[in-house]
Amino acid sequence: MRHLAILGSTGSIGTATLAVVAAHPERLRVVALAAGRNRDLLKAQCEAYRPRCVSVSSQVDADWLRGELSYRPELHWGPEGLLACALHPDADTVVAAIVGSAGLASTEAALRGGRRVCLANKESLVVGGALMHEAALAGGGELLPVDSEHAALHQLLADRDPATIREVRITASGGPFRDWPLARIQAATVAEALNHPTWKMGPKITIDSATLMNKGLEVIEASVLFGLTPDQVAVTVHPQSQVHAMVGFHDGSYHLQACANDMKLPIQYCLLYPEKLPGPVPAYPWDQPATWTFEAPDLLRFPCLGLAFAALRAGGTAPAILNAANEVAVAAFLEGRIGFWDIQACNSEALAHLPVAPVGSLLQVLDADRAARSHAEGWVQTRT
Ligand code: MG
Repeated sequence: MRHLAILGSTGSIGTATLAVVAAHPERLRVVALAAGRNRDLLKAQCEAYRPRCVSVSSQVDADWLRGELSYRPELHWGPEGLLACALHPDADTVVAAIVGSAGLASTEAALRGGRRVCLANKESLVVGGALMHEAALAGGGELLPVDSEHAALHQLLADRDPATIREVRITASGGPFRDWPLARIQAATVAEALNHPTWKMGPKITIDSATLMNKGLEVIEASVLFGLTPDQVAVTVHPQSQVHAMVGFHDGSYHLQACANDMKLPIQYCLLYPEKLPGPVPAYPWDQPATWTFEAPDLLRFPCLGLAFAALRAGGTAPAILNAANEVAVAAFLEGRIGFWDIQACNSEALAHLPVAPVGSLLQVLDADRAARSHAEGWVQTRT
């Protein structure tokens, strides 16, 4: 039996995780739930799974929940509440699904506390990089990637001698603007950018999929997770989103991982690893005719992907700077304060102008994150 703390329970990964729990009640139990502002859904989740520990973003919402619930869990709020859930003594497995760098400290604490961390918060690895490995090593924690491409790589790379590997490739759907001409992309609206062709996800990651920044963050994530050089990680555009990753060996052969594009599958893989229990998705219908296509990404129309490779090569705090600038730019775009093409301009400007330092501690990385945020916010204000 695994005992779960789910951080970000009302988001798309959190709700998919609860669906996996519901399918395997004999193997998975919910001990703690943490959510942001969606208190109505959190209340329903609490009544259904009766976690002993619950956290929300504000004291007001915690008080509201205390009055609404039919039982009496421990109630927490704010960043301390996230930590209380992540380190709850009854939880051995933490699903880290908070969006953005807000999820960093709880991921680090869970790894340092010896938990299995099923990581959907890719920012922890993009921003925190080596620090997360250190925390896992120091505390005996275990890091398993929920991101579909990285869960695929985890399966493909298991027990492989690193010396035999030439490269890994993660696939990208290409997003809603894959075949749009540059001028049309530059003028894209919020509604157009939110209209993702193959995955249903939260707004931040959906915009990141339209700019290909999501794939750029995943390139950095793959490099950190599997100890690969920037030259060993590549991206292939595959609009059908059925192949999630591939590993190329020095002998010229490739191994591919394929499955339906349903996040419940990588989530279940991480929760129950190394077991593979009967699945949350049906077998692939191989007898029906289908066409899978593969193409190279266009860095001129999707410059954010090139920026991510540049940040990975620069190392140190460069990925943290890029990630922070991008969070500010995407929020400003969603609020209608800047245009779609301004996202890459904001990111490129921050990466070019902010000093890059080696990464020493979590506090220092969070400082770089804050500095990049305020720089990017200043840049956004010059545009509005
Ligand atoms: Mg992904």
